[in-house]
Amino acid sequence: MTEKVRAAKAAGRRILSLASGDPNIPTDPRIIEAAHAALKAGDTRYGPVLGDPRLRAALAAHEQRRSGAQYEEADIIITPGGKFALLTALMGIVEPGAEVLVPEPGWVSYGPCVELCAGKPVLLPMLDRIGLPALEAAITERTVAVIVNSPVNPTGRVITQKEIDGLVDLAERHKLWIVFDQVYSDLVHDTSFPTPQGTAKGRAFTFVVDSFSKTFGMTGWRLGYLAVPPGLSKPISRFIQHSIYCVPGAVQAAGLKALQIYDEVLPGYREMFRRRQRDAAARLDAVPGIKCAAPNASFYLFPSVAADDRALAARWLDQHDVATVPGSAFGGTGSGHLRLTVTASDKEIDEALSRIAAAGVA
Ligand code: PLP
Repeated sequence: MTEKVRAAKAAGRRILSLASGDPNIPTDPRIIEAAHAALKAGDTRYGPVLGDPRLRAALAAHEQRRSGAQYEEADIIITPGGKFALLTALMGIVEPGAEVLVPEPGWVSYGPCVELCAGKPVLLPMLDRIGLPALEAAITERTVAVIVNSPVNPTGRVITQKEIDGLVDLAERHKLWIVFDQVYSDLVHDTSFPTPQGTAKGRAFTFVVDSFSKTFGMTGWRLGYLAVPPGLSKPISRFIQHSIYCVPGAVQAAGLKALQIYDEVLPGYREMFRRRQRDAAARLDAVPGIKCAAPNASFYLFPSVAADDRALAARWLDQHDVATVPGSAFGGTGSGHLRLTVTASDKEIDEALSRIAAAGVA
């Protein structure tokens, strides 16, 4: 789809995109200035492998405030984005041939990241809930970890406390690591946000993947972090040490500033996405053949469509210049759905939804 959109734009067509996972939040000028100031002050050299201790301490406090989990600076590793945090965790725990349970529908990088570590991804349907019996049935003697994402890309769903509790019990019984991807956790609307690391037991075997990308409109800065079980930051950071070595200091200075203005900027971002999701969901739901509820987090919508999702996405793009992503791109259980995002401008979203209503699904 990305290639198709690129080709259509190159051919001079104006494509309205409801496909991008890159929020239309410009990075706050104070964040940019912090990076600039760090560079001017000489922060242009190698830094600590685990990251700037000031940023790591601020993230430990931030995570404690959100989940209640007790984190020390020593438990936080700064990474170039959430994706690298995920890969760093997997590089540390996946031996060749080991199996990792991966959610489906789920973010497209989980399986490939497991494979990069010579592991085997085992896909598990988790569309509306984490089916614990199915998860347990999929565990073999080679299973080492389960990846869980909340809020979920592509559905925007927040995993419930009951599901998290069941998952933590299961992981403890089978001695599995939990790799918990919470990169949309700052975009949760009006609901609690249960986490495995927030439970007394789960903190001991959960790796938390998080990022500045979606929260602050900083996708291109490549700044994320991994919060590790106590005592594991040294062995886990080997991959960082012998690959990128460290994240640029100026980028980390930007992250520190972002955390300092969090309370000021986040409510506005959250409210914008919530309003857009609610409005877009109502308009989509009014189209015959589309069923859409507004999720309570992120900037995604995952309506079901009474059509072949790939054919429909292709038709809307080819004939109506509206880009969406077929749900089956996120795994077989996503078929019959489309993933839409509300990351374009209000005007573009409005126009795209009008075109969808006119085009219909049949
Ligand atoms: N996890 C999920 C579920 C995502 O959707 C993304 C990005 O789309 C990421 C992780 C990684 O984001 P980044 O590497 O920009 O921090």
